[in-house]
Amino acid sequence: MNADQPNAGGLVDRYGRTARSLRVSLTDKCNLRCTYCMPAEGLPWLAGPDLLTDDEVVRLVGVAVRRLGVTEVRFTGGEPLIRPGLTRIVAAVAALAPRPRISLTTNGIGLDRVAPALVAAGLDRVNVSLDTLDADRFVRLTRRPRLTDVLAGLAGAAAAGLRPVKVNAVLMRGVNDDEAPALLRFALAHGYELRFIEQMPLDAQHGWDRSAMVTADEILTALTGAFDLRPDPVVRGATPAESWLVDGGPARVGVIASVTRPFCGDCDRTRLTADGQVRSCLFATSESDLRGALRAGADDVELARRWQRAMWDKAAGHGIDDPTFLQPARPMSAIGG
Ligand code: SAM
Repeated sequence: MNADQPNAGGLVDRYGRTARSLRVSLTDKCNLRCTYCMPAEGLPWLAGPDLLTDDEVVRLVGVAVRRLGVTEVRFTGGEPLIRPGLTRIVAAVAALAPRPRISLTTNGIGLDRVAPALVAAGLDRVNVSLDTLDADRFVRLTRRPRLTDVLAGLAGAAAAGLRPVKVNAVLMRGVNDDEAPALLRFALAHGYELRFIEQMPLDAQHGWDRSAMVTADEILTALTGAFDLRPDPVVRGATPAESWLVDGGPARVGVIASVTRPFCGDCDRTRLTADGQVRSCLFATSESDLRGALRAGADDVELARRWQRAMWDKAAGHGIDDPTFLQPARPMSAIGG
């Protein structure tokens, strides 16, 4: 193979990785304003005509699944539950052959109402973000009084038969970093699978500070004071979370140490933003425009070729710890977390 050319097969890069997991942002808007993600006033949202339509989303996901070997599709945002066409999009993606696994990352608000319809449409799994169990802290962290809605969403997901229901938590120093054991106790009591995510430099305000970040080691120290944690014998593969069995198992807890223990060498992700740009990495500083090509009449072969080209150039690592690291221009909410 020519070192400057992508292979004719799937979404391979020049370092030998193959992307099989696609994250699709369905909107850059959100109904929360988490302090580590968005400013209180929100952001200049994408204009309506710039967003991929439902049909365009399904067309591009179809290219990824049928032509490029993608086997897992995760919808995210912004907040994907506020996208009116979500259920229709899930149903159309579930009808693709081969059928990909379909998952959703959400803040859970309203999930109790729509979970049955999403499951009927083909949703397989859900991750719900929850950083605190304290109602006052929840308001300080998210700037919205919606803790009971999130808890109802979690319960609704489980009642609709989604398994496992995963909970994602970001700990912030001096805000909720004392809550690791309480969050794990809550998850164990409800049968949810908890994962802590290290805070990454992806906030719109560029306020991330490495020295203030709560590290995986600190999280594990806090948990081992309250639980017996043993490394999970299940092979990790390309999953971002390191996993531990809690009190002998089968319950688990995970830590996604994107900053202190990066797993870029095993990354199998490709990303599509709500305005149809392919990103090879959360931290990529360039994007590849599929929306423009699609609207100019490109056929599926050409769209697949452009996607491969974008992935071929994927960097070896995100480089957060490198002195030359540059935070991407788009924040997490616009890329799709
Ligand atoms: N609104 C949905 C949600 O709340 O899950 C999906 C989008 S949100 C950007 C996806 C995940 O990214 C959430 O779990 C959120 O906590 C996490 N997140 C946002 N900003 C982050 C940051 N700077 N570092 C680490 N995780 C972050």
